[in-house]
Amino acid sequence: MKAAEVRHILDTIGGMFPDAHCELNHSNAFELTIAVLLSAQCTDATVNKVTEDLFQKYKTPADYISVPLEELEQDIRRIGLFRNKAKHIQNLCSILIEQYGGEVPQAHDELVTLPGVGRKTANVVVSNAFGIPAIAVDTHVERVAKRLALAGWKDSVLEVEKKLMKAVPREEWTLTHHRLIFFGRYHCKAQSPMCQVCPLLDVCREGKKRMKTAVIRKDKVHTKPNKELEKKRMG
Ligand code: SF4
Repeated sequence: MKAAEVRHILDTIGGMFPDAHCELNHSNAFELTIAVLLSAQCTDATVNKVTEDLFQKYKTPADYISVPLEELEQDIRRIGLFRNKAKHIQNLCSILIEQYGGEVPQAHDELVTLPGVGRKTANVVVSNAFGIPAIAVDTHVERVAKRLALAGWKDSVLEVEKKLMKAVPREEWTLTHHRLIFFGRYHCKAQSPMCQVCPLLDVCREGKKRMKTAVIRKDKVHTKPNKELEKKRMG
């Protein structure tokens, strides 16, 4: 894709969602790490409901390992995969205490070695908590990037991330990540993207295909013989 087209996409999405930001409530790097870990296969809204009380009760890694695993499980039971996640949190907290003085490390390659922390989580933490530019590819970012041909349909998540990093100026990585999430969450939705009113329709392969299919469907409905009318006409 040409640089001018990428610029057009970034500016348009930027105009639609200028204030896009991380929607997971947190007040420090540790809370953000816990929140992102909890958010796997779960909505940010549910995570925020749970962390409202969770972050009141548990302030430090030591707090999380001071309770039995079952108690932590109960505290996060409204979240999918809560048993696994509770285990990951306690293991992660033990490692933070033993190896990092109770702090979340800033290095990406150290973060990804922590239990429950994958590449996406590490990218969210380094960019939001430590101000290091990164593009975390979640389901929204992946879908939007592929629909707009910023990445190929068959690209892996890592390939999507690499293509976005190449196409988008480094200083815009973090903001672009947030804006693509907002664009995917509120406009270019998985099941019902708002192509008819999309300012990017002219450059979007998926939107053009969908609009064409919609016109063909409409034509078919219009040309379908109305049996009731036919019967009336025949007397
Ligand atoms: S035209 Fe449709 S598929 Fe393409 S970006 Fe816009 S909403 Fe998404």
